[in-house]
Amino acid sequence: MKTIGVLALQGAVSEHLEAIKSIGATGIAVKHPDQLSQLDGLILPGGESTTMRRLMKKYDLFETVKAFAETGKGIMGTCAGLVLTAREIDESQDETLQLIDTTVVRNGFGRQKDSFETMIVVKGLTGSAFPAVFIRAPYIVAVGKEAETLAFVDNKCVAARQGKVIVTAFHPELTNDTRLLELFVSIL
Ligand code: GLN
Repeated sequence: MKTIGVLALQGAVSEHLEAIKSIGATGIAVKHPDQLSQLDGLILPGGESTTMRRLMKKYDLFETVKAFAETGKGIMGTCAGLVLTAREIDESQDETLQLIDTTVVRNGFGRQKDSFETMIVVKGLTGSAFPAVFIRAPYIVAVGKEAETLAFVDNKCVAARQGKVIVTAFHPELTNDTRLLELFVSIL
């Protein structure tokens, strides 16, 4: 059985933990760097990336999570988590974990679409389209050759993968569709 952590400093933590439990894996709310050694993978949830970065630095989880991923463990970043894992943030000097070769635009869907839900096709998932919930979502504006695009909305890339790192601009944990989480667990 795989053990999946959810970074629990800020944001949508409990929904991820419930989804992990629902697929028969073990979920752990991660608040301290010493918890990382028990994990096969870590989810960086949605929330507010600036706040999450600040708290990760404060609790010594920024460099330690980066090292965790660099030793071959899995990372799933949703929404703010997609921002934090990117190589860089468009028009910003804000530091990122640089775990996937992407450039991201924060709040990239604009005001009129601050929050919306739509069905999307995600590469690698079999069956029907995936229900994607976007909340002040970012998107990926550039994908380097190391990374692979997985899904688009309005010609904007909203999911990508590089090795054991999977990122989504939407919130899979807010629906009952666990296929993306299962995909993540299957590659750990
Ligand atoms: N707009 C937020 C950010 O850039 C992300 C929103 C979310 O995670 N739902 O941090």
